[in-house]
Amino acid sequence: MLEEEAREYHAAGRPGKITVAITKPCATQHDLALAYTPGVAVPVRDIQQDPLEAFRYTARGNLVAVVTNGTAVLGLGNVGPLASKPVMEGKALLFKRFADVDVFDIEIDATDPNDVVRIVKALEPTFGGINLEDISAPQCFEIEERLSAAMDIPVFHDDQHGTAIISGAALLNALELAGKDIGEVRMAVNGAGAAAIACCEFFISLGMRRDNIVLADTRGVVYRGRAEGMNPYKARLATDREVRTLGEAIDGADVFLGLSVAGTVTKDMVSSMAEAPIVFALANPDPEISYPDAREARGDVLMATGRSDYPNQVNNVLGFPFIFRGALDVRARAIDEGMKVAAARALADLTKEDVPDTVLRAYGVDRLEFGPEYLIPKPLDPRVPLRVAPAVAAAAMASGVARNPLALDTYTEQLAN
Ligand code: NAP
Ligand code: MG
Repeated sequence: MLEEEAREYHAAGRPGKITVAITKPCATQHDLALAYTPGVAVPVRDIQQDPLEAFRYTARGNLVAVVTNGTAVLGLGNVGPLASKPVMEGKALLFKRFADVDVFDIEIDATDPNDVVRIVKALEPTFGGINLEDISAPQCFEIEERLSAAMDIPVFHDDQHGTAIISGAALLNALELAGKDIGEVRMAVNGAGAAAIACCEFFISLGMRRDNIVLADTRGVVYRGRAEGMNPYKARLATDREVRTLGEAIDGADVFLGLSVAGTVTKDMVSSMAEAPIVFALANPDPEISYPDAREARGDVLMATGRSDYPNQVNNVLGFPFIFRGALDVRARAIDEGMKVAAARALADLTKEDVPDTVLRAYGVDRLEFGPEYLIPKPLDPRVPLRVAPAVAAAAMASGVARNPLALDTYTEQLAN
């Protein structure tokens, strides 16, 4: 049933989910003479003289490229660039719906990182930011690093950092409830791909100790000196401990982070964790261990999944629209670590405020209160943009990547209207 509905949703009327809209008058001959030649020559010359004028006279400052090569699409795998287009149009829809950011989706027929980097770099004049999407690991790491270094606009791989920021917010709050210090907790991770590696590095930015993290993948624990199935990004997180299996890594751990595949964690493993265990089982659509199973194993579990039918959904839409909103509005040259941390802290802090009735109604619940079943805000909470975008903008101004500093009070008011 959902299948037919999904086909009809995409095919109805004008095929696809997005279109281009005109923002200036174009009814008269005079309008056209301004919009195109001869009038258009004036902003052309201004931009030639001062490239920053492009933000004033063109759509560049609100335009993000959602770029993929289709090699790791949702849970569907390597479907290729053409079949990934509905997903990228969907991402465009989310950017627009949640933060009024315009998107051109760019599906590239290339898998060699050198080609992807060359093509995306060449698109810099068009865009105010680059959202890399659904590019497989480990190529995604190299592609993002090289593009970030080469480009003067934000480059952000959402599957990595979006996930890291939202789960980081949930982690900060779960640790607070558990009464544990991020600098002391031990974490076991299943999965060593795009999302897992980025989450580990981000949690380290938030204060976790690198040597308190043990990562496992299809070959078991990622340990220093392991030869097979390695890459430089896994090597940076390789453990010196004498553990070799996920079971050994989870035993006594304070935090489990799953970014792998369904059903890889047992109730016994959760039972073996430290008190008030934090279990973020984020494999989609089915987690490493189900919410009911984890609860059954440990009544004191603090749990998040990627699913909307259980509490604490780690949903990237809480982040990327507003992170780009804030970055674009200050014309940031990059989305740096401080901006990511600011976004996570803004989400964590918002969770502790009273939840307005409109949000309760949107989710058909009587109560949402900071606690084990409410570790992060809800995606339809209208306060999320008002907290995350200004926090990101402020961090960009503080670190100096902002080219267009803003008065934050006025900015937040503008966002609200
Ligand atoms: P990825 O780059 O393909 O990485 C997958 C990782 O899982 C790889 O390191 C792989 O090991 C490992 N793995 C696969 N099967 C395993 C097994 N049986 N036991 C242990 N490790 C196993 O994928 P990704 O983009 O990081 O995403 C991973 C999962 O997280 C997906 O299910 C995705 O849907 C989910 N996810 C959820 C959210 C969210 O909830 N917001 C966000 C992002 C991703 P090898 O390295 O040995 O191949
Ligand atoms: Mg994605």
